[in-house]
Amino acid sequence: MLVIGIDGATWDIIEPNLDKLENFRKLIQEGKKSTINLSQKPWSPSVWCSMFSGKSPEEHGHRDFVRNGEVVRREDIKVDFIWDILQEKGVSVRVLGVPFVIPPYNFNVDFEFVANGVPVEIGEIEKDLENITEKAEEILSKEKPEVFIVVYTTLDRVCHLHWGEPVVLDMYRKLDEALGRLIKHDKEVIVISDHGFCDYDKAPVRTLPRKTPRGEIKGDHHPDAVLITRNVQYQIKQPEDVFFALKEKYMGGE
Ligand SMILES: [Zn+2]
Repeated sequence: MLVIGIDGATWDIIEPNLDKLENFRKLIQEGKKSTINLSQKPWSPSVWCSMFSGKSPEEHGHRDFVRNGEVVRREDIKVDFIWDILQEKGVSVRVLGVPFVIPPYNFNVDFEFVANGVPVEIGEIEKDLENITEKAEEILSKEKPEVFIVVYTTLDRVCHLHWGEPVVLDMYRKLDEALGRLIKHDKEVIVISDHGFCDYDKAPVRTLPRKTPRGEIKGDHHPDAVLITRNVQYQIKQPEDVFFALKEKYMGGE
């Protein structure tokens, strides 16, 4: 099973541009698409944590990258993630870049992210995207794990600062190209975002102030997230269900 997380992906950009996003189009044709209307707040660290722990924000207690002035580490979050559980059962798992902490979390993968996983400049963001895709291709083609999870923060980074500008679609096209390079390695695929995106003024939940040291914020998170599945039987209705889909597939009723 291949799980590709795309931080901040929204149907509002994908759907009207499907003629330019051939791999998204192909995956939708071969599988099923839906919208996840988040029942939890669209805070990235918390949603990614729920997605791979199967726990609600109240249960896992993880909300942000920093808590009381300290950077939160994996060890500070008292949960077993799906990769911990599957590995215990002898399933081969690789995880690249789940952004519930900074730098993004790897499991059984040695990898360093551009700018510690928080690139700001477009050139850095593109470099990060390419590096992750190359590493992911290497894992999929050489190591061939039963479960591979990879997450891209590309769109979130671009959309906060550039929402409404042409560079947003450029980045969706680059991500579409990356998608094409990965999905040919596995029949069973989940593509999912942790939240959608929208104009800053229309965002029901603000995750950043309008002015930041990185510049003016133009876009923010929307509670409608993207889901595409191919050859996945489990009904994914909320982020937590990704955990249960993997658990059921590899551990049955345990
Ligand atoms: Zn996010």
